[in-house]
Amino acid sequence: MAHGCLPTRYHLQTCGVQCSDHCVMCDKSYENDWHVFFVFDKLASLWEVAEIWHIIKENQEVADGFVSLFFQLLEQLPNQQLLIFAMTLWYIWKRRNEKPWSDIDTNLRMSVHMAHKSLLEWQQARERASCKDE
Ligand SMILES: [Zn+2]
Repeated sequence: MAHGCLPTRYHLQTCGVQCSDHCVMCDKSYENDWHVFFVFDKLASLWEVAEIWHIIKENQEVADGFVSLFFQLLEQLPNQQLLIFAMTLWYIWKRRNEKPWSDIDTNLRMSVHMAHKSLLEWQQARERASCKDE
């Protein structure tokens, strides 16, 4: 993502892969990074739940492209929101890939729930590991 080379359909086409340029999830729009992570239907509400949408929106208006927005967000988000941001991005991408590869259409809210759950489990595992070290 930070290098702007996730294999969205836009990137696949620019690399010569013969495929549709429509989003694998909604089939309504051209699929690029912006669409997959920030524009796709219902993503605003997903980011609102994570209390990150207002920061995304402010930066989206001034960012010079997707990678620029990504780095602006990394700099501006407080630590806990940054962790939620990273985990949510991962689950959005995972959900996107499950559709074409496994024909699984995971509910978007479930993806957010799984992102929060995974983050919590990861943090608890780290706490247990640091207690064992003491
Ligand atoms: Zn879409």
